[in-house]
Amino acid sequence: MTTTPTKEGSAAVQARRVLVLNSGSSSVKYQLLDMNDRSRLAIGLVERIGEETSRLLHTPLTGGGAETRERNGRIADHAAALKAAAEELAADGLGLDSPELAAIGHRVVHGGLRFTRPTVITDEVLTEIERLVPVAPLHNPANITGIRTAQALRPDLPQVAVFDTAFHTTMPEYAARYAIDVETADAHRIRRYGFHGTSHAYVSRKAAELLGRTPEEVNVIVLHLGNGASASAVAAGRCVETSMGLTPLEGLVMGTRSGDIDPAVTFHLKRVAGMSTDEIDVLLNKKSGLVGLCGDNDMREIRRRIDEGDERAALAFDIYVHRLKKYIGAYSAVLGRVDAVVFTAGVGENSAPVREAAIAGLEELGLVVDADLNAVRSGEPRLISPNYARVAVAVVPTDEELEIADQTFALVGRAESAGQEVPAGQVDN
Ligand code: ADP
Repeated sequence: MTTTPTKEGSAAVQARRVLVLNSGSSSVKYQLLDMNDRSRLAIGLVERIGEETSRLLHTPLTGGGAETRERNGRIADHAAALKAAAEELAADGLGLDSPELAAIGHRVVHGGLRFTRPTVITDEVLTEIERLVPVAPLHNPANITGIRTAQALRPDLPQVAVFDTAFHTTMPEYAARYAIDVETADAHRIRRYGFHGTSHAYVSRKAAELLGRTPEEVNVIVLHLGNGASASAVAAGRCVETSMGLTPLEGLVMGTRSGDIDPAVTFHLKRVAGMSTDEIDVLLNKKSGLVGLCGDNDMREIRRRIDEGDERAALAFDIYVHRLKKYIGAYSAVLGRVDAVVFTAGVGENSAPVREAAIAGLEELGLVVDADLNAVRSGEPRLISPNYARVAVAVVPTDEELEIADQTFALVGRAESAGQEVPAGQVDN
């Protein structure tokens, strides 16, 4: 293929930095990456936006050192947060006005059925993300604010949305559809969408690499166990089932979310306990899971309490692990043949006791954990199953920011190397 010059000539081709933004309701996480070697130039976090106690933590990673700078005091809104982050970057010679910046990649939680791929953001795309707010009321509004703020900062730059739901859009209809009245479900777009897709995509690909195979050659179960937690079954590189549903509430036991319950619990809480819909929402999303069961949502603290003989903490741990086992069994059946079970995210990467307990007793499924390998602490992808095991058990650190940067740069880079402007609103219908 011949490479035709872009409108700006070679300067545009040399723009190889990507800013990744993950905008939450009261926080913004950012990373600036150099796509020449996919290294981090700087990382940062603005938290408690809108409060008196806002805080910005910024760590430049160029020049060997990694000293974190901190700013304290009210940061009024997302626009002010991004402005403060831009100032910190500029102080390191990494200003966002630099011609080296190729694009800004945004994590967007809900892309519905329409967005199956990373997408260059246009007004029309933004309108569609807004239309999805009713199915993602906690997340999409913050993502939209982040996008608008970044657009105002660099209106000339491609802004790319990378959707948490996209990886799961390959699920077959019989896995994605709930067994409720079809007309009602369709009218309100009720179905299983799944979340953490960027992580499931990255980790399942890395797991294949660890096994020395291509993603197309393997079937893997990914257990993303962070504060939010989800499982997915990935067959030959495509997601065929996942545990989160219409919202990130369904599935595994999480830090503060219940995961699966009988939906009639909600009617019961309304009719018998007299709770409002909003109160039930808060109960199931914020006061349940590990925190609801034992008062703590940090697995380190729970293990410490168990070591001291705390029975509530021990029961919470058992409930957490029991749910994990059920999903491993169910997804083994869904996949038929499993090549690897992979643990990732805060708990999955760090908690050897969770990994050991989740796999214990699953020898009949070919699953065994080697105690010594499981005890190793490392930031690298690694096997924790013995050589003889029929199914590999692995730990693969997730890297959602790198995946967002890769997807963003691939989309922008493809267009540039073909000598075109980045196509606006690249979407699937
Ligand atoms: P988030 O969903 O917020 O991105 P993370 O993937 O960072 O979450 O996971 C956070 C959780 O990871 C913590 O709440 C804690 O339970 C767990 N965690 C972090 N470090 C450890 C550790 N060393 N041992 C056990 N659990 C850990």
